[in-house]
Amino acid sequence: MTFLPSDHTMENPMNTPFKNDRRKINYLRISLTDRCNLACMYCVPKGSIPSLPHKDIARYEEILKITRAAVELGITKVRITGGEPLVRKGLTDFLKELSKIDEIKDIAITTNGVLLVKYLDELIDSGLKRLNISLDTLKPEKFKFITGKDRFNDVWNGIMAAFKKGIDPIKLNIVSLRGVNDDEIEDLAAISMQYPFHIRFIEYMPMGNSAVDIGQQILIPEIRKKIESKFGALEPVKRDKYDGPAKRFRIKGGIGEIGFISPVSSHFCNECNRLRLTSTGMLRPCLLNKYEKDILKHLRNGASDEELKEIIREVIINKPLSHHLEKNSTAHVESQMSKIGG
Ligand code: SAM
Repeated sequence: MTFLPSDHTMENPMNTPFKNDRRKINYLRISLTDRCNLACMYCVPKGSIPSLPHKDIARYEEILKITRAAVELGITKVRITGGEPLVRKGLTDFLKELSKIDEIKDIAITTNGVLLVKYLDELIDSGLKRLNISLDTLKPEKFKFITGKDRFNDVWNGIMAAFKKGIDPIKLNIVSLRGVNDDEIEDLAAISMQYPFHIRFIEYMPMGNSAVDIGQQILIPEIRKKIESKFGALEPVKRDKYDGPAKRFRIKGGIGEIGFISPVSSHFCNECNRLRLTSTGMLRPCLLNKYEKDILKHLRNGASDEELKEIIREVIINKPLSHHLEKNSTAHVESQMSKIGG
């Protein structure tokens, strides 16, 4: 049964009232690791970050236990993310266990694609059908500038390998930044003319101690205008039941899609159906709010399934109605994306 946080008047720690909140929470994003084989300028903090010790990271069996409890409260969709999920050993065995949970109807992964060629067959064997891959540029030199690593060809080869194996849809995530890759918006959009990929532009969210200046943020209306100036008016695509917050379009004659994700210029908090489990076992109702519950600590202290469900209910009840990032503002979220999981 899906839990609807509807009939209470409790306030969350950020003083956001929850009265009459009817959002249906059915989506769990699980971060498997804080480690990453890239260091994207908009994601990881400036300077070096020490990796967390192994003992602080939730073990696969612990993640499965928490997930099963969440499933009993209505979770039907799971996304695996990080850090970079493909750097964690045992990922595909974990995915096989996850796919044995009948109630989970959709399992997806967000990856930077660096290790995709290596793990693709195993991922497909473990039931993977859909992939989101981050790709901010088509230029190898710029890829190195944005991510700190010279791995463009590995990522592109991974995308092509996934395409040849029939993974569908393949969604490419792009964070456009002024003065960095804004000159490639049209070229990236044009991929959807040649391949059936979903090319998704995501607004930069100022989080943690990132190397990006707020002046580099480009909002979706500007991105859309650039694409439409080159290709003409975009045609809307009908939504389907597993759609997330992306507004879907097609370039006339395109075989793929263009997606716009606008957490800042037009936030989708009122339809947000997500919970997040960080790699250290913190359960969060919102990426952009620091409220979280240490569900792993409770599990390690012997919490029963019922007690785990009680914690999950509490986190759902405390889901903020909205975040506080606004257009043209320097409002900033303390949490680091790479630690929570994107
Ligand atoms: N390593 C994987 C990857 O690169 O896709 C998964 C983790 S990454 C944090 C997930 C997504 O978050 C990526 O698509 C990335 O572009 C996005 N992301 C990271 N930092 C962001 C930020 N500050 N604003 C908007 N999107 C961000």
